[in-house]
Amino acid sequence: MLDGDHEFGDFTDGWLCGTLKRRIVFVMRRREFLKNAAVCAGAAAWPGAWLAAERSFAETAEDGTPAVFNQLGYLPDAAKRFTLRSPSKTFSVRAVNGGAVVLKGTPGAPLEDTASGDRVQICDLSSVRTPGMYVLETDGSDSKTKKSAPFEISNDVYRHALWLTMRSYYGQRCGCSVDLGDGYSHPACHLDAAFHATSGKSGAYKNHGGWHDAGDYGRYVVNSGISTGTLLWTWEMLHDAVSKLELKIPESGGKTPDFLAEIRWNLDWMLTLQDTDGGAWHKQTSENFCAFIMPQDDPMVSYVIGTGAAPYKSTCATADLAAVAAIAARCYGPYDDSYAKSCAEAAKRAFAWASKNPNVTFENPAGVRTGGYGDNDCRDELLWAAAELWRTTGDEEYRKAFESGVGYLRSSGLAIKTPGWNDLSEMALWTYAMAERKGASSELVSAIRESSARAAAELARNSGENGYGNTMSRGDYVWGSNGVAGNQSLQLIVADRLQKNPAYRAAAAENLHYLLGRNCWDLSWVTGLGRNACMHPHHRPSGADGIVTPWPGLLSGGPNAHPADPAAKGMTPGPPMKMYRDEQAAYSMNEIAINWNAPLVFLLAGVNS
Ligand SMILES: [Zn+2]
Repeated sequence: MLDGDHEFGDFTDGWLCGTLKRRIVFVMRRREFLKNAAVCAGAAAWPGAWLAAERSFAETAEDGTPAVFNQLGYLPDAAKRFTLRSPSKTFSVRAVNGGAVVLKGTPGAPLEDTASGDRVQICDLSSVRTPGMYVLETDGSDSKTKKSAPFEISNDVYRHALWLTMRSYYGQRCGCSVDLGDGYSHPACHLDAAFHATSGKSGAYKNHGGWHDAGDYGRYVVNSGISTGTLLWTWEMLHDAVSKLELKIPESGGKTPDFLAEIRWNLDWMLTLQDTDGGAWHKQTSENFCAFIMPQDDPMVSYVIGTGAAPYKSTCATADLAAVAAIAARCYGPYDDSYAKSCAEAAKRAFAWASKNPNVTFENPAGVRTGGYGDNDCRDELLWAAAELWRTTGDEEYRKAFESGVGYLRSSGLAIKTPGWNDLSEMALWTYAMAERKGASSELVSAIRESSARAAAELARNSGENGYGNTMSRGDYVWGSNGVAGNQSLQLIVADRLQKNPAYRAAAAENLHYLLGRNCWDLSWVTGLGRNACMHPHHRPSGADGIVTPWPGLLSGGPNAHPADPAAKGMTPGPPMKMYRDEQAAYSMNEIAINWNAPLVFLLAGVNS
């Protein structure tokens, strides 16, 4: 039995089961890490750190830890604020294995964290900078010293996480066999496709590819828009962190870098949903969600689904495709010029179609019950497409389209909010401000910069006031709130690029700490990462493959103030951060999705830059 079991555990069967499960996960993860260490840049020092972590894991408290923090650890020069959930008058930081005390301090005054309803204190460990493994010690109410789980300080703490979260997209691939290792694999799926009656065409359609969108096996152009766009932005803005990632995917070793090769798998599929007139169908899914089975066992036909009436394609999907293909034209040029040109052409044709058909919205036709991704306002998608096309081509047509299209955002003072799959106006504004093209309105660029800085300052202020350090307000705990946290970090990193302010990047990192353990659940919401990670995501392969641990590198949607799924039955409404269950049935609290992982990859690239 582990030291500390009596002190911290209830020692019920359930607790023991959870402990053993986590221990198995930890050992499996270390094995996976050691296997992959050679392909991770800068990983040479890791095996020692992980062995040290496992040693200290055995001799310090695992559960009931009085403090929560990023379970992957901290960069040496970063802020390190731990949240204490049982009161303490003092704290000290000690090297593991009974090492020397390196810091003594006093926790901050008690703070009521409104999102969780918790009364907490914050211990600031930022001055501890020497790489190593440490524990935090605090006073217990019974005058016994309480020890936290061990934590690491190192320059490499987030490199594996970046690799794993990006590689999770390979695991989401549709239409080819997938093998992540350790049993996470499946043969090619969804190879039989057909046009649905709502598409305006009929018969078989020989296309395949794309990423399974989330816990289901559907593929949706609209949600692919922000996901693929965010990842391509990662390539452009945080290039050094991702350009040499070796993802161990089928294309590895080819002329296109792995990061772009993985994105291309989805991009190519998006392009297959573009009709000859330039418009893009909304989605490719079965008519209903299948059971919790592996993708190759899904018996339903994968349909290209349209709006059900001419022109059959939808504006938001088409404009999203235009924006993403325009970015792709910039990114792939150095590696595959003809592909980049074909992306540019596809983007222009899509933009022309969407401009001619600006209000064709989508809702599920009768008999179709998969994700709708309906959006009644496609002005922001069109604006994003215009901005990206202008940035790519420099053509006046697109600059003019942007500058006339942006008018509707003027009444709100070009307010910057947090982007989402149905709100791309921020992506549009930032693209214009970052384009560095001749002819840009300096007044407009300044206004976008200032608005971005104002919004970033507010997020940074939230982080300072929140007990768990994230940047979210109470109203941000919506379906997919962890994606909101990721996108707020993206927002902060972009704001820093537009107007340098180290506080923005620091606040962005606080959301990473929140997602990886500094939360009221002491939980890492990324599968396979951290001492106590999400175990039961709403994700069909994780539920159907017979392996205890879920597919790795996937971000759970997280707390939802208004959950609507079977796991929510019997939950008493409470503070929003508490509205979460790590259960497979909890699709409104624990599903994974490509558009939530994408800003996490962006954020991890940001902290690894
Ligand atoms: Zn599939």
